[in-house]
Amino acid sequence: MKLIAGNWKMNLSKEESSNLAKSILNEFKNNKNEILLCPPFINIPVVSEILKGSNIKIGAQNMYFEDKGAFTGEISPKMLKDYSVSYVIIGHSERRHIFKENDDLINKKVIKAVKEGLIPILCVGELLEEREKNIHFDVVKNQVEKDLENVDLIDPNKLVIAYEPVWAIGTGKNAEPKDAYEMHKFIRELIAKKYGEDFSNNLRILYGGSVKPDNIDSFMIVSQIDGVLVGGASIKFEEFSRIIKYKGSGC
Ligand code: PEP
Repeated sequence: MKLIAGNWKMNLSKEESSNLAKSILNEFKNNKNEILLCPPFINIPVVSEILKGSNIKIGAQNMYFEDKGAFTGEISPKMLKDYSVSYVIIGHSERRHIFKENDDLINKKVIKAVKEGLIPILCVGELLEEREKNIHFDVVKNQVEKDLENVDLIDPNKLVIAYEPVWAIGTGKNAEPKDAYEMHKFIRELIAKKYGEDFSNNLRILYGGSVKPDNIDSFMIVSQIDGVLVGGASIKFEEFSRIIKYKGSGC
């Protein structure tokens, strides 16, 4: 099943979050693919209540790797689970670059998420200068290896990887589908070495970076792409709907 995930980032008030969640639920309650909404922490309760009992999932944009304690401003996985959160975005490029999260911290978060039964959507991707220097495969290899160190998994449904080239996020400049194909294939090979062929073939690898209604179809026909992580276009009902209704989605 493909996964169409919306990362609302630090956008939408309580009322706007509620209205958007209601509209998506109303339009897509019988959707065949998996739809995931990741609101800001503070709007998780209201969105969770709206989605209750439906097949539309709720995710968080971040979490900390401890259960509780003196970690001002942080949210634990157990707190997220109180609101039926099932996925958590970890290592998003905005966390890596604006909030200086490193692979060591990201790795701790992935380990904790898996332990708590939350599905991490581990984001990896290179900067523009790294692609221009032709070291993008090395950068992504390093991220995948470090972020998944000591992460023991047998079920491929317990992990999602999102390839999000940093230069494509929020810039309107998407990667070419063939570049995404190559990177997804590369990531799948790395995963096969670590977790085996079967796991790797069944692991969902999403593309993210300026996915819009006018380019979604070109990504979703790529064999290696199992879904998308959408930022800007996920907070506009018309745009996100068209993305969910990509050609071949069956909607
Ligand atoms: C994202 O936030 O993960 C993202 C891909 O953003 P955008 O779609 O706006 O580029």
